[in-house]
Amino acid sequence: MLELKNVSKFYYNKGVIATGFSKVNLKLDIGEFIAITGESGSGKSTLLNVISGLDTYEEGEMYVNGKETSHYSEKDFEDFRRKYIGNIFQTFNLVNSYTVYQNIELVLLLNGYKKRKIKKKVIELIKKVDLYKFRNTKVSKLSGGQKQRVAIARALAKETPIIIADEPTGNLDKEAAESTIKLLSEIAKDKLVVIVTHNYEQIEKYVTRKITMHDGRIIEDKKIKETKSTAKANEVEYKNITKINRLRLGIRNTFNIKTKFILLFIVFLFMTSAIMAQYANSRKQKHLSDIDGSNYLFRNSSENRIVIKKKDNTPFSAENYAQIENLNNIDYIVKDDALLDNEISLTDKKYLSIYGNASSIKGFKGNIDVGRMPENDNEVIIEEYEDRYYIKELAKNLGNTTIYLMDLYTGTINEKIPMQIVGIKYMDSSLYYGNSNIYVSDNILNQMRFQINQRYSKIKILFQNKYYESNIYNPYFRIKTSENVPVGKAYVSNDLNYEVPSGSCKNKPIKIEIDNLYYKEELELKIARTYTKYNIKSLVGEEYEMNNGSIYINPEDYNKLFDKPSYQSSVFVEEVELLRDTGAELENLGYTTLIIKDTLTKSGQAQVVEIFQTIVTIFLIITLFFITYFIIKVILKSRNTYFATLRMLGATRKISKQLLIIELLIVENLAYLISVVVIILQAKQIINLSFIQTIVDYLKIKDYIILYIILIVMSYIISLKYAKKLFKNSSIKTYNGEV
Ligand code: ADP
Ligand code: MG
Repeated sequence: MLELKNVSKFYYNKGVIATGFSKVNLKLDIGEFIAITGESGSGKSTLLNVISGLDTYEEGEMYVNGKETSHYSEKDFEDFRRKYIGNIFQTFNLVNSYTVYQNIELVLLLNGYKKRKIKKKVIELIKKVDLYKFRNTKVSKLSGGQKQRVAIARALAKETPIIIADEPTGNLDKEAAESTIKLLSEIAKDKLVVIVTHNYEQIEKYVTRKITMHDGRIIEDKKIKETKSTAKANEVEYKNITKINRLRLGIRNTFNIKTKFILLFIVFLFMTSAIMAQYANSRKQKHLSDIDGSNYLFRNSSENRIVIKKKDNTPFSAENYAQIENLNNIDYIVKDDALLDNEISLTDKKYLSIYGNASSIKGFKGNIDVGRMPENDNEVIIEEYEDRYYIKELAKNLGNTTIYLMDLYTGTINEKIPMQIVGIKYMDSSLYYGNSNIYVSDNILNQMRFQINQRYSKIKILFQNKYYESNIYNPYFRIKTSENVPVGKAYVSNDLNYEVPSGSCKNKPIKIEIDNLYYKEELELKIARTYTKYNIKSLVGEEYEMNNGSIYINPEDYNKLFDKPSYQSSVFVEEVELLRDTGAELENLGYTTLIIKDTLTKSGQAQVVEIFQTIVTIFLIITLFFITYFIIKVILKSRNTYFATLRMLGATRKISKQLLIIELLIVENLAYLISVVVIILQAKQIINLSFIQTIVDYLKIKDYIILYIILIVMSYIISLKYAKKLFKNSSIKTYNGEV
């Protein structure tokens, strides 16, 4: 069934040509039991490798069932081997970390057998080679003779018509050798068995033919016994290993050698945690540089803020707010957002001055660290750095410190709104905004807004056809309230008398025009009285020094000027990722939107930091890739023979590669899983490892998905790169190099 005509095999080594064997003519048939002998180096192994399709030949022609093979590709030889050949080696070439059962099972798995069929067959074979007792023993624990019997069972498993054994008894003692030969002779009946041996006497009584080689040539080819040989062999049908068995085998390989698994796991865990940490760090840097961006119009530059105005420039109605609140992704609305952008100051009139931004208690997130949440309108909480100088004192006196709003520019304290601080939340000190956040009731927020409206308004006074202007820097002509002034009237400074030719401004009209970002308003009043240094106290109850120039009006008139519905609001979104979608929805509903995040001007330094972080991340990924690859290469060096064995047993290059990929991906998935578990434990504060906290703080679900993809792709490329190196050599070269 196998025929060689003038076949020669040469080795080319650094320009030197060595002859493996030359001009061999042979015809081998089913039913023969052939011994090949000859001194060492005479070409026996080379001949067997060529016959087995493990190695190629250079000259002549080899026929299989009458067909030429000189044009065979690697794949054709693979196919030939899987249909016809079972190999047995001097060094066994078993998988030492597998049990007897698993070694025999392996060849059947690789050739597409189903699990149930495999079991029956493997047990049968194990009994046949008399190793039933050892079926679950690792091969590494067996004696040489036992190992060779496993190899024989494995060679028989596929029921190929040809068994080729290269010095199968070379590493065995006399007794083991005899039983091995006997076993081989028993299985030889309807097969072609070719055995290379040094010890012809041992095998003599079984052989049907003896071939002797010398110096690469056949010098003797002698028939010993008559046989009922047939020239044509039956092919063995085979398939590729099923998908589920690929996975099973991959899982087995992952955990099968414990030290290898632990080393791989450590390497992958190192790679995973290093990339996660750097990714989280770059997120943190980005976040810090985001909030570091500045905008001199909007003090509150939260990345989740959208400022809105109505396109028709009318004030917001309750329906408008209800409609906005119904959108997705809305966290909360600050109806009148002027306060967000204006610093306010609170004082207890003693040691305490708190500067910060006031906002609605409804927008408060998280937990109070000291004290409690407010229970009535006058109670407030502050968010503050733990190391601020007044914090210790304040924490001790929570609920007992009455504080007031103070006008930042004039220093006037508004005693009409007494407040109590009842709770403190500590700020993350790595996020340095500088200011505290003050959370107050909507009622107080409203009152604070008056102050802001006035502060940010251009106030023009028209008197006697002349305009007088007031703004925050020039408080002369400031508008103040007093219940003593009747509605529609104004009390003004005596100084105004000099502006009137008659010398008296009494009963003269005075017009107040308010002009600010959001609205214009005007109000005409009649001057009822003038005050001087001497009577101001009795008229309106205030000091002359600080207030000369102020125009006192009734609170009702004041409200007409400053108590305005909201023309501008701010929407805070839940998911910053969806900020733009929410903005687009608001535009569709008829609002002009300004996404605060887009208005921030980044400092040059922040941009450099961002670019630097990206470079560091990429550099780290590349470096880790190579570090991991080289460590894995060292760890997996011992796996070379395993993969050579797989190929020898019929696994294609592609399938061997897949098995390697499955193995490494399982380890990476485990490393990722363990990392995530540790992160969850940290998030739930079951463990306390400060270096993980950054990951907990800055990574969101989306980042975990991105990281997972990055890590899996990295592991995949590492597997491919290693596979490429692994399969560069043919399996027989790997064996020779390794053994
Ligand atoms: P045997 O099995 O009879 O001891 P081999 O078939 O191993 O002999 O070797 C036959 C000849 O081929 C020897 O001269 C040996 O040096 C040479 N040879 C075998 N393998 C290689 C190789 N990979 N590269 C170069 N020469 C080789
Ligand atoms: Mg040899």
